[in-house]
Amino acid sequence: MNMVTAPQEEIMDTGMEAEWSRVRDRLKSEYDGSVFNSWFKPLALVNIEDGCAVMAAPTRFMRNWLESNYADRVRSAWKSENPSVSDISFIVLSAFAKNNPVEADSGAVPQPDIQKAKIITEKTSEFGAPLDPRFTFESFVVGKSNELAYAAARRVAENKEVHFNPLFLHSGVGLGKTHLMHAIAWANRERFPDRRVVYLSAEQFMYQFITSIRYKDTMSFKQKFRSVDLLMIDDLQFIANKQSTQEEFFHTFNALIDHSRQVIISADRSPTDMEGIEERIRSRLGWGLVADIHPTEYELRLGILQQKANKVPEVDISLSVLEFLARRITSNVRELEGALNRMIAHATLIGREVTLEMTQEVLQDLLRANVRRVSIDEIQRRVAEYFNIRLSDLLSSRRARQVARPRQVAMYLSKQLTAKSLPVIGRKFGGRDHTTVMHAVKRIDELRQTDSVLEEDIQHLERIFGT
Ligand code: ADP
Ligand code: MG
Repeated sequence: MNMVTAPQEEIMDTGMEAEWSRVRDRLKSEYDGSVFNSWFKPLALVNIEDGCAVMAAPTRFMRNWLESNYADRVRSAWKSENPSVSDISFIVLSAFAKNNPVEADSGAVPQPDIQKAKIITEKTSEFGAPLDPRFTFESFVVGKSNELAYAAARRVAENKEVHFNPLFLHSGVGLGKTHLMHAIAWANRERFPDRRVVYLSAEQFMYQFITSIRYKDTMSFKQKFRSVDLLMIDDLQFIANKQSTQEEFFHTFNALIDHSRQVIISADRSPTDMEGIEERIRSRLGWGLVADIHPTEYELRLGILQQKANKVPEVDISLSVLEFLARRITSNVRELEGALNRMIAHATLIGREVTLEMTQEVLQDLLRANVRRVSIDEIQRRVAEYFNIRLSDLLSSRRARQVARPRQVAMYLSKQLTAKSLPVIGRKFGGRDHTTVMHAVKRIDELRQTDSVLEEDIQHLERIFGT
């Protein structure tokens, strides 16, 4: 982030608009007409806040596409026009598009409602970060892995009384922490319009703190943070090892909690695991409710995909494709959305039907990165189950054909689907020699060519393991 930004009042609207039009000219000169018309023309500048140029796109799809394909270019175009702009963000205004008759007419590109966006961002921020209109409770799909965090978030959003303070949300990347925090802000503000709800990242907190020191204005920094009813700080891990920011955060935190104001923190790990954060702070972070979001389960992933696909009715994606994605993209929701967006982009731009084959082709890299790690134990269990024999028989030294063949299949799959060496596999199969495993692999390889029943069995098993 840039350390010196012009004070807000210096940025006059007209200046901002003029800059924006020069940024657009730059983009226009760099891209050919159709790219410019498709992606940049419908964009509108909403505001410049804390060195971040916020632009609005009329649809979710466009926003995602811009973000993943053009963000760097747009950012540097802004920087060249106005060095105090250090970052950009794209938001969607589909939340308002509902009331916008233009969108009903599918031929026209809907123009975002800038006035409304401005009001919302102004109300939202004061000194917090803008909220993404897509991140609401309604759009959050609940499953086993996130139900605790969701319930806690709702409770906080719907009540003025403080039940647990702080609420500490943690999870790996892309599992919905930021989404939940924005949802809390939207819901809380709707219910209690007079409350001061502030959301910002730990990085922005630090930035504001440093700026206040630079301008010898720490008093007003302290005052404004202490006047908040609900403070949310996202990605707290960012201030690890940043001594003075931590110190200031801790003062703010204590002051708010002592006055029964709600504090919500998110981080990529639990309070006890936060390295580079002072012990006394860590322990206080765990005083309220600590809720973690677990990695997603299949049903949740499918639910999320269905919800997101439903929002793009013009593109038809079959259930089997969605199921395939839910089975194969297991890393996190952000990647899952990325995969779906890419499918939608291809479908719209190339005008092809979305089939399983196309999905596999278009998502090759993502699918490879998401290859499920299968263990030898799991292979043994599944193979025994599939051939309807006991696991103990599979691992025994019995040579009867009805257990020997499945055993070979399991060895073969262990070799194909795990990175384990032949000796390791041998040991896992009741301490057999690596030559036995080698023989099994060779044998099954041969049989796959000639024995169509066995070939089918193996294909079925491979599908079970998601390959
Ligand atoms: P985090 O802050 O934990 O890294 P985000 O909140 O940014 O994750 O989520 C990443 C993306 O996944 C966002 O677009 C968000 O809307 C989406 N997402 C995450 N969890 C869910 C969910 N349960 N239902 C719907 N969308 C989700
Ligand atoms: Mg986040």
